[in-house]
Amino acid sequence: IVEFHNVRKSYGALEVLKGVSLSVPKGSVVALIGRSGSGKSTALRCVNGLESIQGGELNVCGRKLHEAGVKLRELRKDVGIVFQSYNLFPHKTVEENITLSPRLTRGLSKAQAREVAQRVLAQVGLSEKAASYPEQLSGGQQQRVAIARSLAMEPELMLFDEVTSALDPELTGEVLKTIEALAKGGMTMILVTHEMAFAKRVANQIVFMHQGVVWETGDGRMLDAPQTPELRNFIGNGL
Ligand code: ATP
Ligand code: MG
Repeated sequence: IVEFHNVRKSYGALEVLKGVSLSVPKGSVVALIGRSGSGKSTALRCVNGLESIQGGELNVCGRKLHEAGVKLRELRKDVGIVFQSYNLFPHKTVEENITLSPRLTRGLSKAQAREVAQRVLAQVGLSEKAASYPEQLSGGQQQRVAIARSLAMEPELMLFDEVTSALDPELTGEVLKTIEALAKGGMTMILVTHEMAFAKRVANQIVFMHQGVVWETGDGRMLDAPQTPELRNFIGNGL
């Protein structure tokens, strides 16, 4: 569902992705790990067209992002992204936050959108919070609403960029559990995470990025037996 072939991306003179190749089959979970600045977020942002690429090929949900004329709005209906900061509208209820986009971009009626909101809120375990305002929720709950908002677009693929990094440790678990349940339900996802135990448990493939390339990749066992000094170092020093 996602194929990177030798993808290159620069910001001005700074080359950040230096030939990234990576394949994400439908229904699989890929975890991106690596040091700060290694290009994890950039790679993720290329997938839903938040960044354009300068070389190589990038296929996402049947679209060739390396070619001109890709309709980004269409692409972003298929590809949900959730960031560290959840950016909910403070003056709208949880349900209004979730129904806004589906109503505008998928043309759902109010009743249809509410039905979708109830379904996705159940998926993230927050059915009781539909009428609450974001400030009445914990950080972990707000992040789960942000995930629900993305799910309401019925994406084929979900991207998560360090969605638990801003949370207190005691709130991290509930968000990770939500993501794990989505994975078990068959959602295809690429996630950037510092939670190594989580990556090992949930990801089919772990990708260690280093200096703008895929330095090492494999299943969870690669974290127990790193093949390169760079990965060994990364795991050893924690973060
Ligand atoms: P972190 O773990 O800190 O989030 P990361 O692996 O996600 O790091 P990226 O955010 O992809 O790293 O950044 C890779 C490099 O690109 C960094 O050197 C960063 O400074 C640079 N960079 C990222 N975004 C931009 C931008 N919009 N303009 C210029 N440089 C950028
Ligand atoms: Mg990042």
